[in-house]
Amino acid sequence: MPYEVRGVVARGKGQPVTVETIVVPDPGPGEAVVDVQACGVCHTDLHYREGGINDDFPFLLGHEAAGVVSAVGEGVTNVEVGDYVVLNWRAVCGQCRACLKGEPQYCFDTHNAAQKMTLTDGTELSPALGIGAFAEKTLVHSGQCTKVDAAAPATAAGLLGCGVMAGVGAAINTGAVRRGETVAVFGCGGVGDAAVAGAKLAGASTIIAVDIDDRKLEWAKQFGATHTVNSTDTDPVEAIKALTGGFGVDVAIDAVGHPKVFEQAFYARDLAGRVVMVGVPTPDMEITLPAIEIFGRGGSIKSSWYGDCLPSRDFPMLVDLYLQGRFPLEDFVSETTGLDGVEEAFAKMHHGDVLRSVVVFEK
Ligand SMILES: [Zn+2]
Ligand SMILES: [Zn+2]
Repeated sequence: MPYEVRGVVARGKGQPVTVETIVVPDPGPGEAVVDVQACGVCHTDLHYREGGINDDFPFLLGHEAAGVVSAVGEGVTNVEVGDYVVLNWRAVCGQCRACLKGEPQYCFDTHNAAQKMTLTDGTELSPALGIGAFAEKTLVHSGQCTKVDAAAPATAAGLLGCGVMAGVGAAINTGAVRRGETVAVFGCGGVGDAAVAGAKLAGASTIIAVDIDDRKLEWAKQFGATHTVNSTDTDPVEAIKALTGGFGVDVAIDAVGHPKVFEQAFYARDLAGRVVMVGVPTPDMEITLPAIEIFGRGGSIKSSWYGDCLPSRDFPMLVDLYLQGRFPLEDFVSETTGLDGVEEAFAKMHHGDVLRSVVVFEK
């Protein structure tokens, strides 16, 4: 029978979110119900609430989560009841043109649950990124569940489901940072600091963090930045060149997604270097660059969708590295809160006071 649980709902553009009773159906074919243990608060949740993603209100927010599978539908073979999983929004379909080319990290047709979760009056909810995990239970496609080592606390492991994976993946997957390379990361919030940590993991010798907030530059140092540049008072391109023998970095990562910042990343890179955009721009933004500079500098300009991750490959690997003390996953958790703390967490995030607030559920 369907479950009635509490969840965080955004009912209309710009309206504060509310904690409401939601109805979660029994899992149908290929679906799973997950008892959520923890779910991080991400900028994308706030964008949904502000109507910045689409107008499919009401939304069930939350998408960076870990929990335990409590029921599975017909035909589910990749997980079973009791499995500890991190939820993902790239449930690889196996059939789209990316998957058929052997590049499932770009899958264009991720699986989501076919059934809808609803309010008690039957109104269908749109789950954020096809997940909706600010809820005691959520219904997902079984492919959205990636089993990881249960020794990792849910507060930390859940963050791999979005922001931390995006940042780490921008460095190790999209940017393909190699041992001994030089890296600059622009923007040192959760995603940017994860890119710093990813560059360190990959063995970068110089990691330059750029931000306009000294507090964030301090965070970046904790995650492995070897140098910091406050771009309010210093030209970051000149500073980065000065720190790299006059040449610029091998990999420049824009974790802000603003034309001005992208331009800095573009010019802060050595000849034949890579520029990676992982920060998400708004639809009205435009970038103008001299074509001769694009040609003359060589290398590549790439964007990084979800860190070009393959959840089945990357989530268990990063959890294992965390458990071995080689990746500081839990350092991204600034504070924990309850379901009723999401609005306050949005405000703290907006002011840049936290890397991540994480909603935890009482057992
Ligand atoms: Zn696919
Ligand atoms: Zn997110």
